[in-house]
Amino acid sequence: MVAISLKNIYKIYDKKVTAVSDFNLEIEDKEFIVFVGPSGCGKSTTLRMIAGLEDISKGSFTMDGHLMNDVAPKNRHIAMVFQNYALYPHLSVYDNMAFGLKLRKMPKKDIKVRIDKAANILGLTEYLERKPRELSGGQRQRVALGRAIVREAKLFLMDEPLSNLDAKLRVQMRAEISKIHQELNTTMIYVTHDQTEAMTMATRIVIMKDGIIQQVGTPEHVYEN
Ligand code: ADP
Ligand code: ADP
Repeated sequence: MVAISLKNIYKIYDKKVTAVSDFNLEIEDKEFIVFVGPSGCGKSTTLRMIAGLEDISKGSFTMDGHLMNDVAPKNRHIAMVFQNYALYPHLSVYDNMAFGLKLRKMPKKDIKVRIDKAANILGLTEYLERKPRELSGGQRQRVALGRAIVREAKLFLMDEPLSNLDAKLRVQMRAEISKIHQELNTTMIYVTHDQTEAMTMATRIVIMKDGIIQQVGTPEHVYEN
């Protein structure tokens, strides 16, 4: 089933910079899509349009047949993980993970159930009382993942989530993210400039250049040609 449809999407910044041009992609439920390409090719812009953090200049974005272009970010059932973690420094790990759910007025005991589950998946159970500055880089990125997981969103967006980590940790976190994708049975769109990440994680790869899709296919297909 086609869950997400992006049709003839354009992003034009300030009426002059065409960051994304005639982007067309249909994504099925449970896919792990990776956008790959050099810096400045429009990956992040595309992701931000899907999240609702940027307006779509032209074209249509639908989820399960509903037009999403004008839906507010908090009503999109989409969770996003950023490169710089974007944690609240004054809040504990628990409260960082709870933040989005409190915003949506979820009852406290339901919040706790979700956080306990996410902390368990991510190995954060012992760290719930700590502040972000008391954590390692890998633990911080796990908190950022946890904050997305507890949303139980239909779609996960990840914008270069591992690029601030050292090589060894990147390999480990790649495996963890793949595990999360399987355990949560969810759809992911993941942005990276790292071909190895794309090859090891994706069910389908979208190669972009200068705001245009160059190629779409399975890792085997894309890197064979
Ligand atoms: P990537 O994520 O692939 O590195 P981006 O989507 O960040 O690429 O950027 C695509 C293009 O859009 C680049 O030319 C970039 O300079 C431009 N761009 C990105 N954000 C803005 C913005 N807020 N205002 C103007 N131009 C932007
Ligand atoms: P508020 O911000 O409204 O005061 P709290 O942050 O005190 O809410 O959290 C309310 C409930 O969430 C608590 O009663 C507790 O069950 C749970 N909770 C909060 N912090 C933690 C934590 N660090 N570890 C486990 N459970 C927590």
